[in-house]
Amino acid sequence: MFIGGEWMNASGSQTRTITDPANGETLGTVPETTDQDVDLAVKAARRAFDDTNWGSTDNAATRAQLMRDLAAKLREVAPEFAKLDTQNCGKPLIEAEGDVADAANCLDFYAGLATSTMGQTASVPMNMQSMVLREPIGVAAQIVPWNYPLLMAVWKIAPALAAGCTVVIKPSELTPLTVLELAKLAQEVGLPAGVLNVVTGVGEVAGVALTNHPDIDKIAFTGGTDTGSKIMAAAAKGIKNVTLELGGKNPAIVFADANLNQAIEWIAFAGFANQGEVCSAGSRILVERSIYDQVVERVKIIAQNIKIGHGLAQDVRMGPVVSKEHYDKVMGYIQKAKEENCRLVCGGSHPAGAQFANGHFIEPTIFADVTPAHTLFREEVFGPVMSFTPFDTEEEAVRLANDTEYGLAAGVFTEHIGKAHRVVKQIKAGIIWVNCYHPTFNELPWGGYKKSGIGRELGKYGMEAYLETKQVNINLDQSELGWY
Ligand code: NAD
Repeated sequence: MFIGGEWMNASGSQTRTITDPANGETLGTVPETTDQDVDLAVKAARRAFDDTNWGSTDNAATRAQLMRDLAAKLREVAPEFAKLDTQNCGKPLIEAEGDVADAANCLDFYAGLATSTMGQTASVPMNMQSMVLREPIGVAAQIVPWNYPLLMAVWKIAPALAAGCTVVIKPSELTPLTVLELAKLAQEVGLPAGVLNVVTGVGEVAGVALTNHPDIDKIAFTGGTDTGSKIMAAAAKGIKNVTLELGGKNPAIVFADANLNQAIEWIAFAGFANQGEVCSAGSRILVERSIYDQVVERVKIIAQNIKIGHGLAQDVRMGPVVSKEHYDKVMGYIQKAKEENCRLVCGGSHPAGAQFANGHFIEPTIFADVTPAHTLFREEVFGPVMSFTPFDTEEEAVRLANDTEYGLAAGVFTEHIGKAHRVVKQIKAGIIWVNCYHPTFNELPWGGYKKSGIGRELGKYGMEAYLETKQVNINLDQSELGWY
């Protein structure tokens, strides 16, 4: 763990072995954090916030410079970080390389915002000079999942540091390695002790201790919706500011007038990128009936030709899912879809071959003729499993798209500009792609409607999550009050 600028083991001296999901090989061991360790980390972050000038406005330029230095260091060692994320969570190297580049850019983006956060002045009645000041919230507890180990962490760390907060971050117990490596780089560039602390360990111990700690001011969480609900309950007890980035069951609508050659590839990418272990994965494909069979068939051909293997191998575009437990969960959804008579178009099994024997590999899987009554239409699988559903009218497409308790992302494929805008306006989701799927930019807000979360990350919206708002009224009038 990295606490108060020092590397330490857990007080209980327990450790956890971290393995490569493609072959079961050991990658390392990390401490299994206890309540006591979390307390140490929060105290270190508290001291760095309360007793140093880290968060003050006159330190903003220094914060920005440190973040730029961290981004530069990360770029220097980007290949090692990409390799480590691939080994730890299974994603293809080409995706991990993109994640590391995005993470470095995210640090640079928020370095820019560190020195450009501004309050406001306001015109009010009475002879007052009124203004609104923005100040860092304080100590941020950040909890992240395993599907983008480095990137999800940086989406949280970067705006928090830029705002002047101090951080205790807990990576997923499955994928802590690149966050620990990032802390090493932070130490190398001279980030002051206690500003960034990393605790490893399971959610039920380290995560619970962190979210229940009285000395934190903010909880930022990315993960499953059920966990999000528990986190919100913990935040409620302490009246803590909380932002939640949760799950999704995201639709992509393909109209008959779409550019099909373009749409087919984006749709496969929507569902199968990162093994489908993406909160915004386009896992419910809604297709206009006249082109339905053709679209299912063409996406099937892509699915059957996706190169599966260890993410480090050349040309691999799908690695294993993250763990045995998660493999069983995804396979359980496949089994259930079969039992509920969804039509299996391709995949559905562990791929055959000795090279897959020790890894948690699942074939790219497509089910067709899925209806809102099916479990596959409603529940987040978080694996390489796509469902296809036909529709007849624009109204029906929108109704099916919104027939979910989630509201993270959606895709719309059409060459009709009016239809695209009409549908975009009606879909209840925080992120919508038209004639593409998945491109994400540091400048734009990321987050969901409904059960997909509360608040936004990225862009200036992501910075808001770490800023308090203070009104100040200065009386310019010299007369006495005359009230009593
Ligand atoms: P998860 O909810 O099981 O775990 C996420 C993190 O929370 C982990 O670090 C875990 O240790 C911790 N945790 C678990 N229980 C906790 C508790 N009671 N108190 C505090 N911390 C606790 O999620 P996961 O399986 O790691 O990730 C998959 C989920 O994340 C999916 O549902 C996916 O949609 C979601 N996700 C959302 C986004 C987004 O931006 N909206 C991005 C990535 C992943």
